[in-house]
Amino acid sequence: MIPAAFDYEVAESAEHAIALLGEREDAKLLAGGHSLLPAMKLRLARPSALIDIGRVSELSYIREDGDHIAIGALTRHREVRDNALLRAQCPIVSHTAGLIGDPQVRHRGTIGGSLAHGDPASDLPAVILALEAELVVRGSGGERTVPASEFFTGVFQTAVGPAELLTEIRVPKLGSTGWSYVKMSRRAQDWATVAVAAVVERSNGSLGKAAIGLTNMGGTPLRATAAEEAIAGGSSIEDAVKLIPQGTDPPSDHAASSDFRLHLSTVLGRRALEEAAAR
Ligand SMILES: Cc1cc2nc3c(=O)[nH]c(=O)nc-3n(C[C@H](O)[C@H](O)[C@H](O)COP(=O)(O)OP(=O)(O)OC[C@H]3O[C@@H](n4cnc5c(N)ncnc54)[C@H](O)[C@@H]3O)c2cc1C
Repeated sequence: MIPAAFDYEVAESAEHAIALLGEREDAKLLAGGHSLLPAMKLRLARPSALIDIGRVSELSYIREDGDHIAIGALTRHREVRDNALLRAQCPIVSHTAGLIGDPQVRHRGTIGGSLAHGDPASDLPAVILALEAELVVRGSGGERTVPASEFFTGVFQTAVGPAELLTEIRVPKLGSTGWSYVKMSRRAQDWATVAVAAVVERSNGSLGKAAIGLTNMGGTPLRATAAEEAIAGGSSIEDAVKLIPQGTDPPSDHAASSDFRLHLSTVLGRRALEEAAAR
């Protein structure tokens, strides 16, 4: 449980972090360290250097910006959970941050680390996907905006390049849009066995449109597009949730078999859609 030797640098700013990344091959950014350090101790990750962005306060904020809320990548899960603006304007993000790990994890872990890590079992990625959020990535050549649908590219892989930094996450103001994130895990502090995010628009008391994000149902967070299309076409929630497993490929592991996850996704999907429709 001791990591391989590595160099350590402290970034003073976002630009400094990008410059340091450009100077070193195989360097990794260190944010909250709650995914990277365990991976290094297990020798699943062996970066030549860690670039600590933990003190880059310019990346820690939550603010209103036109029709969306902008969240700095270094904002800790606890701040995301407790922030009054976010709780009022996009409460699904605060709610989900409050379900991550335990108090220690929420005090150190960051929203940017959670998303850049690209773990299909993490909670926030499916929510970001269902919200059709945008992610701002910065490198030496400038800044680009990546839609959530293009951000998660594989298991532990994202659109963030080796010399780039995720700087901001832009989530929509939800207004009267209904939402829910329902997570099932074996123990209180565990990652999700499966979880479902639902963001729904209602018209005349019934569901008009739904975005459904799935956690731990494949190599990346997924949208349940067949179920979404069924709802848009007027299907009941009961009929639509039968389509949630379509296009998924859930793992079998110590927590659950793939078959159980397929079943669980329909049960949690139904709960999430019903809760979102009633909210
Ligand atoms: C006991 C325990 C329980 C947990 N339970 C859950 C859970 O229930 N649900 C859940 O979702 N997560 C859970 N986590 C993970 C936790 O949320 C982590 O904090 C999070 O996944 C990573 O955030 P971090 O800031 O710690 O990132 P780090 O570990 O510092 O970094 C993770 C990866 O992201 C990269 N990175 C970090 N920041 C940036 C950035 N701004 N730009 C580009 N790359 C970046 C790093 O280089 C590294 O590769 C748990 C962790 C532990 C230890």
